[in-house]
Formats: sequence, C-alpha cells, structure tokens
Amino acid sequence: MSSRFLEIDDNLIVRRSPRARQLSLRLDNRTGAAILTLPRGVSVREAALFATEHKGWLARQRAALPPAIRLAPGEEVPILGRPHAIIHDPDAGRQPAVEAEPAAIRVGGAPSEVANRVRRYLKNRAGEELTPRVAHYAAALDVSYSRLRLNDPMGRWGSCSATGTLSFSWRLVMAPGWIIDYVVAHEVAHLKEMNHSRRFWTHVRRLVGDPAPARAWLGQQGTALQRVG
Ligand SMILES: [Zn+2]
Repeated sequence: MSSRFLEIDDNLIVRRSPRARQLSLRLDNRTGAAILTLPRGVSVREAALFATEHKGWLARQRAALPPAIRLAPGEEVPILGRPHAIIHDPDAGRQPAVEAEPAAIRVGGAPSEVANRVRRYLKNRAGEELTPRVAHYAAALDVSYSRLRLNDPMGRWGSCSATGTLSFSWRLVMAPGWIIDYVVAHEVAHLKEMNHSRRFWTHVRRLVGDPAPARAWLGQQGTALQRVG
C-alpha cells in the first residue's frame, strides 16, 4: 500500500476490482479494516481523495462496532443464541465438548490451539444445523440445490448462485435457531425466484411466516456475530 493511503488510515486495504462500477469504501466488521475498492480506470490519486473525504464516516462506523470477542478462555461465544463460556481444561479432550448447565464449551489440548478448535467446532456445527434445514425447506418448495457451502463473507449471511449453490456464513451458528431458519428459507426461496419480488417473499412466508422479526434481529445483532473470532 502506498504511504498516501497509510496517512489516511492505518488499517486500510486497497483493492482493484475489474467488476466494481464505482469507488467504494466499506468497513470489514470482522477485522475493523477499511476496504477501498477501485474500479478499472480510477487513479490512485482519485481513490485517495475519495477515502479522505470519507474519513469521518469511517471513524463513526468503527466507533459504533460492538467489541471484538476472541475465541479464548474466559470469553463467551453464543451457540444457537445462547452464550457459552469458553473453558480451557488440560484434562479435557481435544474435541471441544458443549455443556448445557452452565452453558460452556470445554476444550483440551494446548492453550494456543483453543481458538482454532472452537472455530472448527463452530463451523462443523454450522454445517450440522444448516444441512437439515436446507433439505427440509427445499423439499417444502419442491426445489433442488446443487451444493451447500460454508463461508465467511464480509457483509451477508447467505447467497444463492445461478447454478443452485447455496452459501451460508458459518457465523449463523451463533444466532438463535429461528434466525437460521429465516436465512435458510430466504436462500432456498431464491431457488424458485432469483429476485426479491412479491412472489419471492410469498415463498419465504410460506416457510417461516413473517420475515420481519428475523430481518430486524439480523440488523440489530448481526454485527456482533461478525465481531467474534
Ligand atoms: Zn435475497
């Protein structure tokens, strides 16, 4: 990165994207990094000016971020909406074990591996939660999908490709079950309607009822889930 950008912000990632249509500046909630995207033909000078103009906006966005939560002993990580204390127990197994009362996730092995183990557990668990829901809603709408993929996108919970691949953020496993239901129903409904038309929302409603509470929940609490890990 050129020093020009460093002067604007010390956590700024500059990207060139042939697909981008305009200059954009976004905040990656997961890391707090600013992402400046340059479309083809835009000069570094123009981009630097644009970023400078949006410095105030960026600072406000960063200040509004919920605190970052590390996957470390003593911290709490939500699983299906319920906070679980992360406990490192040298005598416990290397595979994290989830305990109900009090809610905890107990991890053995080297302390330096706790975060990786918990993250791996959450990703596996996300697959276990998502797969049956996708199958259930796909059957209800009589559609089929080609693949289910877990990822960690910057600003979305799920997506549906034209080829029928459904992708979901593994972070959904931290949300309550009814939120996962909604996001899965939303993406599965895209297999019927690749848009957000009235027909699309009719399919969603048929699967999970009124989507408004889940959408509101994601708007209010979603950022906190991106701050974990
Ligand atoms: Zn959609």
